[in-house]
Amino acid sequence: MINTTQPILIRGARIVDPSQGWDRAGDLLIGDGRIVRMAPAIRNGSLPKGCVVVNGAGLVACPGFIDLHVHLREPGYEDHETISTGVQAAARGGFTTLCAMPNTRPAMDNASVVDYVLRRAREANGVRVLPIGCVTKARAGQELAEMWELAQAGAIGFSDDGSPVANPHLMRQALTYARGLDLPVINHPEDPALSRSAPMNEGRISNRLGLAGWPAVAEETMVARDIELAALTGGRLHLAHISTAGSVELVRRAKERGLPVTAEATPHHLTLTEEWVRGHTTEGPVAGPLTYAAYDTSTKVNPPLRTRRDAEALLAGLRDGVIDAIATDHAPHAVTVKLVTFDEAASGIPGLETAFGALMTLTHKGDLPLITLVERMTQGPLKVLGGRGRGLGSLREGSVADVTLLRLDEEWVVRGAEFASKGKQTPLEGVTLKGRVAATIAGGRVVHSQVTGLEASDNT
Ligand SMILES: [Zn+2]
Repeated sequence: MINTTQPILIRGARIVDPSQGWDRAGDLLIGDGRIVRMAPAIRNGSLPKGCVVVNGAGLVACPGFIDLHVHLREPGYEDHETISTGVQAAARGGFTTLCAMPNTRPAMDNASVVDYVLRRAREANGVRVLPIGCVTKARAGQELAEMWELAQAGAIGFSDDGSPVANPHLMRQALTYARGLDLPVINHPEDPALSRSAPMNEGRISNRLGLAGWPAVAEETMVARDIELAALTGGRLHLAHISTAGSVELVRRAKERGLPVTAEATPHHLTLTEEWVRGHTTEGPVAGPLTYAAYDTSTKVNPPLRTRRDAEALLAGLRDGVIDAIATDHAPHAVTVKLVTFDEAASGIPGLETAFGALMTLTHKGDLPLITLVERMTQGPLKVLGGRGRGLGSLREGSVADVTLLRLDEEWVVRGAEFASKGKQTPLEGVTLKGRVAATIAGGRVVHSQVTGLEASDNT
């Protein structure tokens, strides 16, 4: 890892910074790991010595993306992902900050595992990793983890993600303690007694495929429970990957009541539907009789892909701010746990490298303004991070130099085999996306670049 960061001027890019309501052409100067200046034009005479000047024509410059929800798998599942491969995937996807879920082995339920993850992240490429501690010991749902110890070690919140905190009394206690620590409890809203580990959404297609169904109500009853517990305790509740129209409505009402509730949605729930499980090509889901394209395990994810109506409700919620943040739920798996039957396959989609391209398809269709999309990937997540995200997510002078450069019109074909992530099974395999991350600068270091004249820092 190189320690020095060179001054860089990005000249004449379209600068999109939701933190300042800025969307227009300008110059951006960074140095010493900070944003030095953002202005309509910065004169050559005022540049620091050795400054790299990048031609920003055709590029959008925005704050680096913040992902509240990734599974880096290390320690314990290094065959699925490592912190090193995970942060490389993040860099390619334009993410400069990742919040790492604690369903590792051992689980992140004590300070020494948090320390380990932070140390491994420092040895990686410069993308920031913020650990999320467990709510319960070993994520077993029986007794609370040492939340204070986890917070002292650097946990930015608490979650048993992968599993819900099923016991409402424990959830109440967790929210009460988290309130004292001013950290969020991030629950995976699923009532396991209702979802019964079913592999796909309950409905017409699960019937047709002969698969058990995971009903929307199994999410919505848990969302409703959690909202009432947040109201009771005053603890901050963040709802992970909400996927149904009913959940959006519940969060909307919670916000109208002024409750400390935030929510995220994933790119796959916003852009794909249960139709994809029935079979898809690179053009999208196939209609007509069942073919061998059905039961594609790359579409298996928890919560499952839902209906078109749900995806539209999520998009509306994202647009009007009921959903605060886009989070990838990047959940990479080794191929061995995906090349099995649909029932047996592991749930999860590797999302870091395709998130922006997939979401840009919505933006190109006019369904989501670019500045709103960027807000939900920067300022939105910061609402959840609170003070732990100070200095991030903005191009304001003095902020941390996390900058992502985008090419909105670049078309590219998704090839899982080319991912930096070890998770190669994506439902978007072979799909052409329009919109690509051109470069990523994390803390002033270039961690990914396809831009002429901007070299990625040596990672060794
Ligand atoms: Zn989850």
